[in-house]
Amino acid sequence: MSDKDNDKREEVPPTPEEMQETLKDLFSKIGGMGMSFSPFMQEMNDGAPEESEPESIEIDTLESLDDFNLIPREVKAHLDRFVIRQDEAKKALSIAVCDHYNHAKSVRALEDSGEVDSMEYQKQNVIVVGPTGVGKTYLVKHIAEMIGVPFVKADATKFSETGYVGGDVDDLVRELVRKADGNVELAEYGIIYIDEVDKLASKGGGSFGKDVSGRGVQTTLLKLMEETEVQLSNPMDMKGQMMSVMAMERGSKPQKETINTRHILFIVSGAFSGLEKIISQRVQSSRIGFQVDERSELLDSDLFKNVETQDFIDFGFEAEFIGRLPVRVVCEKLEKKDFVNIMKFSEGSILRQYEREFEAYGIHARFTDSAIEKVAELAEKENTGARALMTVLADMLREFKFELPGTSISELKIDSNLIDNKKEVLAQYRKDGLKVNIEKVRDEVTIYAREFSSNHGVKMDFTQDAILALADLSSIQGRSALQICRTKFKDYQFGLKLIQGNNGRESFKICKEAIEDADKFLSEMVVHSYDAIKKDEDSGEITAKSPSISSTND
Ligand code: ADP
Repeated sequence: MSDKDNDKREEVPPTPEEMQETLKDLFSKIGGMGMSFSPFMQEMNDGAPEESEPESIEIDTLESLDDFNLIPREVKAHLDRFVIRQDEAKKALSIAVCDHYNHAKSVRALEDSGEVDSMEYQKQNVIVVGPTGVGKTYLVKHIAEMIGVPFVKADATKFSETGYVGGDVDDLVRELVRKADGNVELAEYGIIYIDEVDKLASKGGGSFGKDVSGRGVQTTLLKLMEETEVQLSNPMDMKGQMMSVMAMERGSKPQKETINTRHILFIVSGAFSGLEKIISQRVQSSRIGFQVDERSELLDSDLFKNVETQDFIDFGFEAEFIGRLPVRVVCEKLEKKDFVNIMKFSEGSILRQYEREFEAYGIHARFTDSAIEKVAELAEKENTGARALMTVLADMLREFKFELPGTSISELKIDSNLIDNKKEVLAQYRKDGLKVNIEKVRDEVTIYAREFSSNHGVKMDFTQDAILALADLSSIQGRSALQICRTKFKDYQFGLKLIQGNNGRESFKICKEAIEDADKFLSEMVVHSYDAIKKDEDSGEITAKSPSISSTND
């Protein structure tokens, strides 16, 4: 800030706008010092005043909520395009979201009539049980996208009972507002998805028990799931608080300060390892003859159909918490054939992503069935669900993605041979990639030799080995073969003419050793030409020449 500006400030008190600018500067400086700024208020700070909220998005999206007319079968059909298996989960979720958004639609339609309060409705919050990487998040994300509501995902282990050691559950709601571009009304119909909720259990889950803190977070979440008003600005968020004060000083009309959670749909999930034992023990003791595999580590849907609220309580959940999650579904562990189907048939298949990535380098990548089978097999061993597909493919294709772009390769066939013999296949592609380059190198070498001959009256004859070595060097150094020759052989005319004087040769074979060390190669040729003269003088005969440094006379 200039001195002139400072003088001005002494004379006239700062306007709210100036003060806001100063504070913005200050806050951006201290922003990285571990202070808490709510994401929502961050957005406001980015210069989005209340009146400039994206009104068109607000109206469009809320309209899509008001026009909600999907039926469960349609939602499931949409999910089928992306998510392989998990049929029960897809059905249960489709029903839950259709019920939820039909209710939301009625509420909005009746909002001004005063009839809403008399409408009895229990929210269809969902608990999804299933291991990692089987499509739980993927399902919820696609549902939210289809309906057009904001969606937030969080991990239950990140929260602490009091907030601000790990995070505040209220922040989830604020994050929804941010995802809705500041549209509080739309955020009130968003979806919050909390994973690893089993880690909040106080017992039963055994090794995952978190006792007091887990129970505390359950209580806080319970409030959100029921109905509560969440402050839009985090009380610990200094910047947000200051912005609110300044907005009031500027005389802006007061904003909505809270968001109601009554219509936010909650979906929680976890692996619930140990729950299967609780259910099977109870089922076995009540139904003699009911066969359950004691060794199974994961719930299968048959066993899960028997789950009761008491099982979750025995696992370590508060009865009230579990009571707020009436829809219970299981996502099953994926097997090799599911991985094959994900790669082949899911619209979001990771294979399409790889194909696009290679395509960006002008390489048409094609996965054969044998490769798909192999990838599925390797992924199954990883035990991280479909996430393993990414790991396996990244490992498998990294070298190809690094080496092939920029070569003449335009087709990449990914088959089981490539997976089993990665090094050899890569070496072959490398060689093929050079092939076309070699033609180019040969042309450039011809140009260089012609140029050299017309300038110095001496012919250079490059061997096939020398051309290959030049092609290699050219791809490593990123310089043309012509440039390399011009540098490497810039003083060759003197040595070659000397040899010519000694033995009368007009054409000189240039071998790969000349590309590797041009000086050494020339020196040896010169020495050899003197040796030849000496021997000629001694015996009067012409001697055989060393193949690597031979000169030709034809
Ligand atoms: P989680 O069950 O742990 O929430 P995700 O839904 O995040 O797992 O899955 C990770 C990725 O794996 C997804 O983005 C998706 O690409 C893929 N994926 C997982 N399960 C499936 C499935 N059943 N069908 C298709 N793709 C899946």
